Amino acid sequence: MLRRTMAEFDVTAGLQHVTKRIEEVLQSRTKEIKSPKPLLVAVSKTKPAETVIEAYKAGQRHFGENYVQELVEKSQHPDILAQCADIKWHFIGHLQGNKVNKVLKLPNLHMIQTVDSEKLANSLDAACSKLQPALSEPLRVLIQINTSGEDVKSGIDAVAAPSLYQYIKTNLKHLQLEGIMTIGAFGFDYSNGPNPDFVSLLKVQRAICEANDLKPETVQVSMGMSNDYDKAIEMGSTIVRVGTSIFGYRAPKA
Ligand SMILES: *Cc1c(COP(=O)(O)O)cnc(C)c1O
Repeated sequence: MLRRTMAEFDVTAGLQHVTKRIEEVLQSRTKEIKSPKPLLVAVSKTKPAETVIEAYKAGQRHFGENYVQELVEKSQHPDILAQCADIKWHFIGHLQGNKVNKVLKLPNLHMIQTVDSEKLANSLDAACSKLQPALSEPLRVLIQINTSGEDVKSGIDAVAAPSLYQYIKTNLKHLQLEGIMTIGAFGFDYSNGPNPDFVSLLKVQRAICEANDLKPETVQVSMGMSNDYDKAIEMGSTIVRVGTSIFGYRAPKA
């Protein structure tokens, strides 16, 4: 294992390693899993604009941020705007209703992965409807599900998720609902079998598909981070959100 300080971390190598690992897992997973090749979202939280640009130059296009203020700064950073014209931002943190307008106006916003209530969905839809002519694309959203049932985690209850899905699909025409997401409990010991958070998210996916007569491929599942994106892909994840394995150690937020 190479020891590097944070400043020296080789982002290009980190990205190549993760991309290669994703390919390996895809090749080796059982053929029963028919999910498409997952989208890699590089989670750049706490990392500076130069780091984002370095990953972009190495071919990465999708980036995730979980603090509104950081997304505001990076998405509008002059160097990123100039050098990363095709960048796509995912918001993956808790979104407060009063921040909705601020976030929706940001350049290159691609997806909000953390819709967890009717109220937030309504606010997003209303804001999109007002901004509509200015928005080049409909807003893609995922429903965040608190599969681990931890109080500290955001997300709607797994049991309540299918009806939120139904509600958004039926009523909120300015949102493009693409699927569901979970963060899950940290530090799961894989010697105990499959991760229950992933099992739970896939169960919600099945419930949604059955209720709406949909093919599983049409409902995205965002699950898997640095320590378990390979396990998530084995189970059929279609979006993985990877920070540390690409960008190196992240200092805890003060
Ligand atoms: C930070 C974060 C990640 C990435 O975590 P790593 O362990 O660094 O890969 C993924 N998803 C969310 C929602 C996050 O906040």
